[in-house]
Amino acid sequence: MRRRTYLKATSIALGGLVPTGTAVGNGANDRRGDYRPGGPWPGNEQAYNLNAFHSNEELTAQLKKIDRQSDRIALAEIGRSAGRGDPLWEVTVGDGDASVHLINQIHGDEPVGTEVTLELIRELAFGNSRRVERLLDGLSFTIVPRVNPDGAMFEYDIDADGRREWIGRRTNTQAWQSGDSKYEPYYHYAVPDDAPPGYDMNRDFNVALDADAIDDQTASWSRERYYDVEYEGYTLRSSGLMLSPEVRAVAASALRADPDYAITHHHQGRYLYPGSGDGNRPSKQTVMSVMPAYGPAYRNRSPFNDPDAPVEQVVDPFVDAETSERSLQLNVLVEEALAERGNSVFDSVTRYGYYPLWGSYLDTVCPRTGAAGLLYEVTGQTDDRGQQGIGRMVQATTVGFLATFEAMADGSIADVDAEKYWDIPLAGDPLDNPHGVEVPTR
Ligand SMILES: [Zn+2]
Repeated sequence: MRRRTYLKATSIALGGLVPTGTAVGNGANDRRGDYRPGGPWPGNEQAYNLNAFHSNEELTAQLKKIDRQSDRIALAEIGRSAGRGDPLWEVTVGDGDASVHLINQIHGDEPVGTEVTLELIRELAFGNSRRVERLLDGLSFTIVPRVNPDGAMFEYDIDADGRREWIGRRTNTQAWQSGDSKYEPYYHYAVPDDAPPGYDMNRDFNVALDADAIDDQTASWSRERYYDVEYEGYTLRSSGLMLSPEVRAVAASALRADPDYAITHHHQGRYLYPGSGDGNRPSKQTVMSVMPAYGPAYRNRSPFNDPDAPVEQVVDPFVDAETSERSLQLNVLVEEALAERGNSVFDSVTRYGYYPLWGSYLDTVCPRTGAAGLLYEVTGQTDDRGQQGIGRMVQATTVGFLATFEAMADGSIADVDAEKYWDIPLAGDPLDNPHGVEVPTR
């Protein structure tokens, strides 16, 4: 409880920008080390002691309170989660020309984006600074603060003491049943020990953004569990089937927003910042990875450009050159804003090598709406569970959000040199993954 009080009482408000970074966490309870609850769903390496974060109930209460007290925002319930039936909220605020669609915590164990976004909403609802004015005048935000309430609240008895600890998990808690689709899709994970199975919802999107448009009975499946879509002459492998109500709600939200910018926040495991740790320089971790969504204009720059591969396996063929450039500019803004903090911990943004994932939010929303995309992936994992780790993730996310939103709002994004994106290093080696398995992050 102490930690909860701390984080909520300490301003992560945008006015103060960031916590002081001097928080001293009592990490004793956080060192549960390498226990991997249940498995084999991926991503639980990132499981936290979540007491520092808002529960679904608390988030709902906060959003309703803000909505009651501010006439600037509109709050809508756009759906309910599959397992718990908890509300999915959408906040709209601002009346600028540029539309921003922002989603957080589609992976339930990646909570920091939600916390920072709640402060952003509060600031936009009540703030009177010049910055708030600029954001409200320049942008129209459509925000889904927490896409995965089931995963966010997931509890499991990780230390077999007979009590369930609140740890969160990547997937929602929704069983696949025959009749839902021709085959059980690859991104549905069964789990042992009576824990409910669920979907990795960042694989459940479909470029149609419309569940009714999906015909998986006649379509081709590869290796039985992978649904491939034929779309405008391309084969979009491993597409999603929009089987989760959460994804259907987010897709509808994105279509309503018709965004110029589509943004999604994640966590990742720990990676070395390239070039650190050799010679006399100490090693450091990357604080955040960023990822754009770009099209054929940059195919020859892709780190995964197999010249023999179909274009849709290397880049997103539906993202035009101008939108691709804006997407790169967003990434550069984040890198520069963090580097400018003058603290070497933050001067360590890397890029997450891009290739399309046809069931993901980014690679379906961007082509369908013409949005420039940005995926933030803040670094935080088992060893970072303490208060300092959380503070760093909050800081990096806050700085990243503000750098991009302000540049979108005042148009200065157009002045950013997109070429600098290619100077951002790819993430270095992963650090001691305690489970020895590859963790799919984005
Ligand atoms: Zn994620």
